[in-house]
Amino acid sequence: MRPLELILQESAARHKHLCPRQVLGARMSLLAAEMLELELPRLDKRLLVIAETDGCTVDGIIAATGCHVGGRTLRILDFGKVAATFINTRTEETIRIVPRREARALSGDYAPAGRNQWEAMLIAYQVMPAPELFIVQHVSLITPLSKIMGRPAMKTVCEICKEEIINGREVMNGDSILCWACAGNGYYHFSTALHLPEDEPHSCSSLNSKLHMSL
Ligand SMILES: [Zn+2]
Ligand SMILES: [Zn+2]
Repeated sequence: MRPLELILQESAARHKHLCPRQVLGARMSLLAAEMLELELPRLDKRLLVIAETDGCTVDGIIAATGCHVGGRTLRILDFGKVAATFINTRTEETIRIVPRREARALSGDYAPAGRNQWEAMLIAYQVMPAPELFIVQHVSLITPLSKIMGRPAMKTVCEICKEEIINGREVMNGDSILCWACAGNGYYHFSTALHLPEDEPHSCSSLNSKLHMSL
């Protein structure tokens, strides 16, 4: 495992500064890896993280675990909680970690030099023993892991909007194949299709020549 200090440096570089929730994200990742007996950071798909908020915490998790959205090893389910679930995808052992609410009040004891509550949390969360900082639960996933991971080779088309659906994310409504949006789980209302401006003449060839020059 890399030392916490190094992980936090990397997280802070991504986040532009270091803040207490990045420390929580990094420390919960290190604790989960120890409990799941996984080395960090991961370059493979042995660890799947489901973070229950976006923002600062996730940057700490990414720096510690190497898991990321583009690698399909990090999912955000935005419950607005500084909590995350860590899944060993081979054994399917699943651990959910959430910071103790009391940890904030205790931070002054671990960081007497902190000039304010924020700074006390920033320092204390790096040194506070894990049992005082976190609640750890063994949980089981409601959706099977294989379904969460999806099937990358799958590709189909929604019968209503005609848009392509990848990774096996279609929803069956009787015999109909629907996307999540058309099945009533959308996050937008469709209004009107927009007309895009015409491409500048020769824009493709000039882009190609730029790409060629940069290779
Ligand atoms: Zn932050
Ligand atoms: Zn659709």
